[in-house]
Formats: sequence, structure tokens, C-alpha cells
Amino acid sequence: MFAEMMDLSAEKMREECGVLGIYAPGSNVAQMAYYGLYALQHRGQESAGIAVSDGKTIQGEKGMGLVSEVFQDTGKLTHLPGHISVGHVRYSTTGSSSLVNAQPLLIRYRSGFLAIAHNGNLVNGHELRHSLEEEGSIFQATTDSELIAHLIARSGEQEIVAALQNALPRLRGAFTFVIMTADKLVGLRDPQGIRPLSLGETAGGYVLASETCAFDTVGAEFVRDIEPGEMVVIDKKGPRFISYAHSEKKSLCVFEFIYFARPDSNLHGKNVHMVRKRLGRKLAEEQPAAADIVTGVPDSSLSAASGVAEQQGLPYEMGIIKNRYIGRTFIQPSQEIRSLGVRLKLNPVRQIVEGKRVIMVDDSIVRGTTSLKIVEMLRNAGAKEVHVRISSPPVISPCYYGIDTSNSAELIGARMSVSEMAKAIGADSLGFISEAGMLECMDLPPEGFCTACFSGYYPLGKGKCGGKYALASEEEGVCGGCG
Ligand code: AMP
Repeated sequence: MFAEMMDLSAEKMREECGVLGIYAPGSNVAQMAYYGLYALQHRGQESAGIAVSDGKTIQGEKGMGLVSEVFQDTGKLTHLPGHISVGHVRYSTTGSSSLVNAQPLLIRYRSGFLAIAHNGNLVNGHELRHSLEEEGSIFQATTDSELIAHLIARSGEQEIVAALQNALPRLRGAFTFVIMTADKLVGLRDPQGIRPLSLGETAGGYVLASETCAFDTVGAEFVRDIEPGEMVVIDKKGPRFISYAHSEKKSLCVFEFIYFARPDSNLHGKNVHMVRKRLGRKLAEEQPAAADIVTGVPDSSLSAASGVAEQQGLPYEMGIIKNRYIGRTFIQPSQEIRSLGVRLKLNPVRQIVEGKRVIMVDDSIVRGTTSLKIVEMLRNAGAKEVHVRISSPPVISPCYYGIDTSNSAELIGARMSVSEMAKAIGADSLGFISEAGMLECMDLPPEGFCTACFSGYYPLGKGKCGGKYALASEEEGVCGGCG
């Protein structure tokens, strides 16, 4: 039991998720949540869940796997009548296949029922858990949802907004929550706004989603983003916006634009595809290569690859094809399986690359597995030269705010120079966009982003030590405690 707990807490650092909330009297909210979660599937494939309130009670269904697998029996949805709903998809990470961590979390406490869905990662989660345990709280899972549930229940406040205002100042890190009581839907972002959340409107109600692509699927119109440090409370009187905290420094995760979000989503009003295309153009401007064709690693780098091709005046070709029926390989437990996974998932088109000087564009290099395999594949398929271009700077530091970018020891960018990396992946040349160039492409104030994975600058500390030192050097935004 103890070993299992230790393992789970170690793995929890890498939690990536999609959250959804619907308030729509007169609509089939369970069905809407189901379609909305389909649109957010890329944000998490380990587990999926939907909870629905009919104004008196809350019921939910959740399970391991894709949305289509968990709700394979769509009859499950008809057993969830109501007018408010919360949905969640959770990312698959090493060793984390545990139903106890699936969300939304449903709890009953003295003021009623709650369903909680969370995206992000608290840097003081361990510390908070420890102090709550000391005071007698019992935890079943390792999710941050359970922490906020305890803090709400212990706040002594009957009303959800007051309870949250009491609980939220104790949280430190990245958090976007969608919370449902029997008669209200609440959405909120942490004071720095690390993870996104947007509000949309349907004919009969409102939708909250991690990404705007979910609005298109459920027929909602975008209203506005929830601001950092803001909560929206939706009930029969409509939405009410409450600013619950203020932070001078805003820190939207730049990796959402680079890799994580879907290209048809808009984050802070900027379309993700357009940003990626600008990244490609800038990359080619900074790191041009003499070549015949440009190709991208499907799907996340295709927008950037088209930008590179445009900038260099070269044909953009489908030089690599993706098998769409294979899940993500990134998260496989061993390096051997991860390498095999790349080969299963991606295959070059010989007729396109044979005898050509190829620019191969990817959105990021984390461990180097994908680039290594693709360079090898392209050479085996007859490419004369392979020039690798990456539309983000080298990942040099792990993420403590909810993106699975591995630990320092595994990050190739933390261990090697660019020329060493080029050699290691077998490329004729390797070029990354600069950090300044990347930020310029966002077309938003550069100081409004968290770039910790590329810069090593952590706006909220690392919390690696369990939060003990996370506050040590708050002014600089870097946790010095872990050494
Ligand atoms: P690697 O193969 O370890 O260098 O990882 C880089 C590849 O994985 C790129 O093709 C990215 O598109 C993809 N990738 C980057 N970050 C993530 C992530 N957090 N989860 C899954 N895949 C990722």
C-alpha cells in the first residue's frame, strides 16, 4: 500500500488534462459533455468522466481510456439526466493508470454535493496534503481535485463562492478548476493563468472549456476567456464574474501554443495554427537550410512546417505519414518501447523523399527519441540530406505546472549543445527557433508567458521538494531550495 502511494505521488507531477463545464437547462447536458470531451481528447487519453446535476443530486460516470471507450455504451449517458455537467479527460503518464485518479471527483459534504475537475499541477500539493493529513483528512487519490475538495469542505462556509475564496489562497501552482454544486457551475483559473479556460454561450446556456475547439463541437459561441485570478459562477441568473486574486505576473504556458493545444483553438484570442505558422516562418528566417522540400511530423508540427516552407519558398510535402489508430508514444514506460512506438506511428513516403535534401520540422525535442527515429527513417527511405528544424527552443528544464516534459536527466537539451544534439539524432544540421523569436510569434506581451521548460525560469518555483521550498525565493520566481 505504501509503495503504491509513493509511486502515485511521484507520477502525479505530470498531470495534463482537459476540463469542461456546461450549464444549459432544457438541453441534454450529458450528451453535450460527451461531444465536448471528444474535442478535448488530445489533452488526455488515460481516463474520461462526466458528472451531471439535476439541481438536487449529482451523478457521474468515469473510467479508464478514451472518451469513446468509457462511454462506448452511450446508454450510460441517458442515465445522467440534469441541466449542469462537468467533464474531464486526463493524460496518460507512466504508471498512472489508476481509476482513483480519474475525474470529475464527486464528493458529498455537509453543504451538499460537489463535482470537481482540475487541469494543472500545484507546486505546494505535497505540503498541503501533508498538513491536511496531520489534521485528520483522509485521501484516496493523488489528484489536486481532492485537495481543493478537502479545503472547501473544511472552510466552514456554506456557500461555494465563499468556500472557494477561503480555500484558493492556500493553493500555489497551476490550476484551472471547473466545479459543480447541485445548482451552480463555477470555473476559475489560478492568479497567473498558467492553464487556459474559456467561456462560450449556447442558445440555452453556457459552456466552459479548456480550449475553444470544444465550443465548435457543442454549438457554442465564444464569449471570452476567464482571466487569471478570476472565477465565473453560472446559475439561473446567468454568469457572474468575480476577481478573487491579483498577480502582477501573468504566465500562460507557452507550450500550449507550441504543442499541446489543438490548432483550431484560440488561446487569449490568438489562433493556435496561425501562431504555429508564424513560428515556422520565424524559424526559417533564423535557421534557414539549403533543401529541396519541407516536411513536418504529423500532426502537431504541420502548421509550423507550412510556415517554414512558405518562408523558404520550398514545396511543402507529406513526407511522413501517421497511423491514426496508434495512441501517443511519448508516454510509454521504457525507451525501447518508445522507439518502437515511433516506428509504428510514423512512416516516410519514399517517393517523396528519395534523393532529396529534406527539411524535417518538429514542434519540440524533449528526449530526442522522435527526431532520432525520423532522421533514420528518412535516410532509409533515400533522403540525401536531413535538416531538422524545431519550432521551439531546446527543452532544458522539466515542467512542474502540468505538462509532461520529463525529468532533467532525460532531457537531451539539458545535457547537450545543439551541435552535440545534431550528432546524436544523426541530422545533417539542427536548428531551433530562439526564445525571443518564439515569443515574438505569439503576438501577445512576452512577459505574459511561462517559458520555464525553455528558460529554466519558474514563475512559481518548482515545488519539487513537495512545496517545502517553493516560497523560498518568490521574488525571483525561482525555487532555490532544491539545489
Ligand atoms: P521526444 O521524442 O522525447 O524528443 O519528444 C518530442 C516529440 O514528442 C515531438 O514530436 C512532440 O510533438 C511530442 N511532444 C512534445 N511534448 C509532448 C508531451 N508533453 N506529450 C506528448 N508528446 C509530446
